[in-house]
Amino acid sequence: MSTDAPGRLQAIQAMVNRASKRFDPAGRPVKLVAVSKTFPAEAVEPLLDAGHRVFGENRVQEAKDKWPALRERYPDLELHLIGPLQTNKAREAVALFDVIETVDRDKLAGVLAAEMNRAERRLPCYVQVNIGEEPQKAGVAPGETLAFVERCREVHGLDVVGLMCIPPDGVPPGPYFAHLNGLARQSGLAGLSMGMSADFETAIGMGATVVRVGSALFGRR
Ligand SMILES: *Cc1c(COP(=O)(O)O)cnc(C)c1O
Repeated sequence: MSTDAPGRLQAIQAMVNRASKRFDPAGRPVKLVAVSKTFPAEAVEPLLDAGHRVFGENRVQEAKDKWPALRERYPDLELHLIGPLQTNKAREAVALFDVIETVDRDKLAGVLAAEMNRAERRLPCYVQVNIGEEPQKAGVAPGETLAFVERCREVHGLDVVGLMCIPPDGVPPGPYFAHLNGLARQSGLAGLSMGMSADFETAIGMGATVVRVGSALFGRR
């Protein structure tokens, strides 16, 4: 694969397109989120210059240091929050990000909804599911997902567009992706954010609509 980021972007975008065509010949679009966490603005700029606009960060503070200046020059970019969010950072998150992928508890859902109303920015959200039921990972339990999605919409008034997961390390991810897909169907949600550098093609084969790729684009962290 190419050694510069724009070359790698082109190669990965081609893999994404191929995998999504194979999964759905009608051409369901799959969004490639370029995960730029730990990499500085100078590493991101070549991708912006190459026309890429969708990026992911996992920390509010890091996004605050890196992205406002880039957004001035590229106002059409779309920044996804893909890491855990504390309620006391919700206001900043609503100002900085365009999509929140990590809604995982009622308190956060309520605070986010209030901050979105206040800022008049109603951002699309994903509910993060702890699909492997791992104690150290964030996310709602699979068995609680349907009820939580319902509360996010009906009680908190969030615009929930899909589910997101990070499957367990070291085991084949396919069954976890399939499980998330089933939960999304049961919830009536079209969005499925799943798949990272090592497994995004598998995820697309299981119905991913969003893949989050970091190291394959930017190199090792
Ligand atoms: C870091 C991160 C990614 C990207 O992981 P890579 O293996 O580097 O592609 C995707 N999703 C989340 C939630 C992450 O924190």
